[in-house]
Amino acid sequence: MRFDYDDQNIFAKILRGEIPNKTVLETEHTLAFEDIAPQAPVHVLVIPKGAYVSYDHFARDASDAEILDFTRAVARICEEADVEAGFRAISNARAHGVQEVPHFHVHILGGRPLGRMLE
Ligand code: C5P
Repeated sequence: MRFDYDDQNIFAKILRGEIPNKTVLETEHTLAFEDIAPQAPVHVLVIPKGAYVSYDHFARDASDAEILDFTRAVARICEEADVEAGFRAISNARAHGVQEVPHFHVHILGGRPLGRMLE
């Protein structure tokens, strides 16, 4: 599969500092910030700094260091946020996944019972 990254997407602009964000965590390869339209008391978006369109793109092409950094960032966010009672990590991809922003991101949702999601 070919992944074409659009560097005008909104998260690319956030990474370049062109649009403000409420940063939760920043590491060498990863940025996490609060979702602008939170669906739960905790709603954090975790994104790699690299130009990856979707989870499958990231998992295929990112370096081991990027993947490890991203995964550990998720762990730190869960540790620091109020999600001891549980959370959901979601990544939407492309049209069927209803992905709005074409820069890979994982939603971390928690802070309330989330109900069943799979339809
Ligand atoms: O997974 P999907 O691409 O559909 O989700 C994009 C998310 O990015 C939405 O939850 C939206 O609220 C969030 N967003 C944001 N800041 C922006 C634009 C979108 O947090 N400036």
